[in-house]
Amino acid sequence: MIQRVLVLGSGSAGLIAALSLKIKIPQLEVSIVRDPALGVIGVGEGTTPNFVTHLFDYLGIQRKRFYALAEPTWKLGIRFLWGPRGRFDYTFSPQMDLVWGDLPKPNGFYCDEEFSNVDLPAALMREGKAFARTPQGGPDIQPWHAFHMENEKLVSTLEQIAVESGVEFIDGAVTGAERGPQGIAAVNLADGRRLDADFFVDASGFRSELLGKVLEEPYESFNKTLFCDRAVIGGWERTDEPILPYTTSETMDHGWSWQIEHEHHINRGYVYCSDMVSDDEAAEEFRRKNPKAPDSPRIVKFRSGCYRRMWVDNVVAVGNSGGFVEPLEATALMIVCAYSRTLTDFLIHSELEPTDSFRNLFNEQTANNWREIRDFLGLHYKLNSAGTTPFWRRCQEETDLSGIKDLLEFYRENGPTGFCRYRMPSSLSDFGIEGYLVMLVGNKAPYERRHQPSPAEKQIWERHRAFNVARAQQGVDVKESLAYVHHPGWRWNGDRQG
Ligand SMILES: Cc1cc2nc3c(=O)[nH]c(=O)nc-3n(C[C@H](O)[C@H](O)[C@H](O)COP(=O)(O)OP(=O)(O)OC[C@H]3O[C@@H](n4cnc5c(N)ncnc54)[C@H](O)[C@@H]3O)c2cc1C
Repeated sequence: MIQRVLVLGSGSAGLIAALSLKIKIPQLEVSIVRDPALGVIGVGEGTTPNFVTHLFDYLGIQRKRFYALAEPTWKLGIRFLWGPRGRFDYTFSPQMDLVWGDLPKPNGFYCDEEFSNVDLPAALMREGKAFARTPQGGPDIQPWHAFHMENEKLVSTLEQIAVESGVEFIDGAVTGAERGPQGIAAVNLADGRRLDADFFVDASGFRSELLGKVLEEPYESFNKTLFCDRAVIGGWERTDEPILPYTTSETMDHGWSWQIEHEHHINRGYVYCSDMVSDDEAAEEFRRKNPKAPDSPRIVKFRSGCYRRMWVDNVVAVGNSGGFVEPLEATALMIVCAYSRTLTDFLIHSELEPTDSFRNLFNEQTANNWREIRDFLGLHYKLNSAGTTPFWRRCQEETDLSGIKDLLEFYRENGPTGFCRYRMPSSLSDFGIEGYLVMLVGNKAPYERRHQPSPAEKQIWERHRAFNVARAQQGVDVKESLAYVHHPGWRWNGDRQG
């Protein structure tokens, strides 16, 4: 029976895994070993709504406390400066997978000419507002939001909560591990200490100390679908720029660029393909676009792919140690939360003696999940006709989307109908058919069965959009919403105490 868990790594992945295990299974002894000399990756700023529900609803962390320490701002979705429309908004609530009761066809069939203000969050994004306004005047904070957070603030917040929850921290550099009948028996530290445990979480980031190095699990590259392998990163202190309630993803010559909004800081980065451009040229293009960015932006190298299995013997990898893809959909923290929760729930249900079938199920689900993320990101590249450089031509021609070919074929014949969901490779999808339809409609992917809306339908459609716009115009922007939630008198519904 598992009694002692050692988590290797104290980045956001190790901390979320440790907190999930300790809070949900309090009898477990959970320790984290980390090397302060290595530090954490220091990037990873955008999330998806499951991060919010994981922290507050699943783990019961108090919102008031978290907002005070981590200082998140809100993300309603992603604005893509992408495709033939030049821009479209992907929100966290259904825009495309919806049929309004007074119209015969799903929303996507009405978006040929204009794809905007289809739901309230999209209208809020257009108006630069975070939330609609309640009758009392404050922000009506709905669950369809995620966060923007500075990585180091997030890590220090989670660390503080982990200490209070009874997680033990050990400083030291892991140099190797001893094998035992269950897999790994102990890890060795540079100073000669030996740390044993029944179960290990490898959250050592790109180093993948246990799953990759000790257990030598085979690695699967995504390089047939995702061609980028580097990022230039550099932000600046906010002056008079408004705090936007969304992440911006913008087409660049050899990849794409993000803009993430913090209260006092703007975080910019350019993900590019080093086969097509040198680091210096990429940094130059980045600086041209962002004159306020530092003169020597940081370059981060990465490879896209994942280990074949996330759970081998008594080791589970969480975070960058198990796999990585670029942050085009901010999926890293999304799957850290999802895998931490699945692991915790599997341990609870197997009464801390996980069977091979639980392990196999975990590996099957996570492998499917990685493939889905690869293909969903690949679709973004394949469809982006706004890019006309050799890099983008290569994406349009060579991106391997064989994993979702049935879905794409069904769409090509039938258009943006919710029935496309039955041609998705797996019913356990993080993006749902909504995500695929937003990408296909947003990028004007061609389809055969077009619908010609009657004048009456067009009027109804415009009335719905105008209603969203009118509500959004009365909304509360990020700055005002922050002032509300940081006010001592603000009360969060759903906080377990205080
Ligand atoms: C350019 C870029 C942009 C990104 N943007 C986003 C985003 O917008 N949204 C998102 O969700 N994610 C993003 N990510 C991913 C982000 O990095 C991860 O979500 C996240 O921060 C998890 O990191 P981690 O904990 O796995 O690794 P790390 O933060 O690298 O932590 C690794 C830990 O392991 C410890 N460690 C390693 N080796 C040893 C050793 N031998 N001995 C002891 N300790 C050791 C280190 O000390 C550290 O504590 C981005 C990543 C990159 C590269």
